[in-house]
Amino acid sequence: MTQERVKEVTDHFRRVFGSEPQRIVRAPGRVELLGNHTDYNEGFVLPAALDLDVMAAGSLRNDDLVSAYSANFDTLVEFPLSRIEKDLVNTWSNYVRGVLKFLGESGVRLQGVNMAISGNVPVGSGLSSSAAIEMAVGFLMQALVGFEMSGPDLALIGQRAENEFVGVSTGIMDQFVSRLGKKDHALFLDCRTLCYEHVPLETRSIKIVVCDTMKRRGLVDSEYDQRRAQCEEAVRLLSQWIPNVRALRDVSKGDFELYKDRLPEVIRKRAQHVIYENERVLKSREVLNAGDYESFARLLDECHESARDLYEVSCAELDTMVEICRQAPGAMCARLTGAGFGGCTVSLVRDEHVDAFVNAVKTGYAERTGVTPAIYVCTAEDGASIVQ
Ligand code: ADP
Ligand code: MG
Repeated sequence: MTQERVKEVTDHFRRVFGSEPQRIVRAPGRVELLGNHTDYNEGFVLPAALDLDVMAAGSLRNDDLVSAYSANFDTLVEFPLSRIEKDLVNTWSNYVRGVLKFLGESGVRLQGVNMAISGNVPVGSGLSSSAAIEMAVGFLMQALVGFEMSGPDLALIGQRAENEFVGVSTGIMDQFVSRLGKKDHALFLDCRTLCYEHVPLETRSIKIVVCDTMKRRGLVDSEYDQRRAQCEEAVRLLSQWIPNVRALRDVSKGDFELYKDRLPEVIRKRAQHVIYENERVLKSREVLNAGDYESFARLLDECHESARDLYEVSCAELDTMVEICRQAPGAMCARLTGAGFGGCTVSLVRDEHVDAFVNAVKTGYAERTGVTPAIYVCTAEDGASIVQ
C-alpha cells in the first residue's frame, strides 16, 4: 500500500518536474479518540495518527521559487519565498504557503523547492487532511534543507499557518499528532503545557473504524463560538468561588460538584461535559497503559452521551450512526468525533468482525437515512516520517 503510494507521488513528481525527487515524506490524518472540546479549555486530548496520509515528494531548487503540485486538485502553483501571499483561487495552496511563510519567519533559512503532494486523507471529513498537508510540507522542508526543529515547534508552525494564514481557528491537537503520533499508540496531550505521552493502543486485533455520516458540519462555526463563550462564562463564575481557576482545566470534579448548583443550567451542562471529559482522558491513559480495552471503550461511549446531552453537539445523523455502530458485529463502542453537528463517528472494532461490522453499518445507515456512509478501517500509525 505504502509502496504503491510512493510510486504514485513519484510518478506525479516526474511528470510535473521532469526529474527524480530528492526526498519523500508522509504525514497522517488523525482521529480524536477522546478529548471532545477540551482543547480550548486548556485540557487533555487523546488522538491517534492514522494510516491515511498526505505524501509529499520534493527537491530543492537553486532559486527562490516554490513550485507545488497537488495531485488531489491536479493544479500547480508557483510563488517566490520572498513574497508569500494568500491565493484566492487555489485555496488549497494556502496551507503550503502558510507553513513556508511561518517557517521563514521562525528564522529558518529556506530555499526554493519543487514539490508534488498526494493524499488519501478524505478532504473535509474531519480526519484533518489540513494538518496532514501542513505537516507533510513542513517535514519535507526539514528533510530537504536539514534545519533543526522539534516536533512540537513544527506542529505550532502548522497551527499558525491554519489560524493566521488560512484563517481557520483550530487547536494544536491535529498538527501535534500528525507530527508526533506513534504506531500502535494513541497520543495523550496536555493542551496547556504541550507535555505528551504515547499510550499503547494495539491496532492489529482491534481496529479504529471511522464512519462518515456524510452530513457536512453546517452550523459548526457559530455553535462552536457559542460553546467557547459558555465555557468562558463558566470559568468566570466558578473562579469567584474556587481559587486559581484560569480555564475549565483547573476545575476538579470535587469542586465542580460543590458549586455546580450555583450555575445557570446551560452553563452547568457545558462545564460538566468538559470537566468530566478531562477526567475521562486522564483515566484513558491509565486503562490503556494497563491494556484494559473494555474500560477504554466504555469511556468512549460515555463521551458520546455527554457530548449529546450536556454539550449538545450531536445531531440526528450522528446519533443514528452511533446506535447502528454499537449494534454491529465486533463493536466495542461508538461516539461522535470532532466538533460535532455532522462529520464522523469513531468505533473500536474487533478485527475478526471488521468486515461484518462495515457491511452492517453500510446497510443499516443506508436503510435508516437513505445515505451510503463512507467507512474507514484504520490502524494507529507513526506521525510524520521520511519514506525515501
Ligand atoms: P479536514 O482537515 O477535516 O480534512 P479542512 O477543511 O480543515 O478539512 O481541510 C481541507 C483542506 O486542506 C482542503 O480543502 C485543501 O485545501 C487542503 N488539503 C488537504 N489535503 C490536500 C491535498 N492532498 N492537496 C492539496 N490540498 C489539500
Ligand atoms: Mg482541518
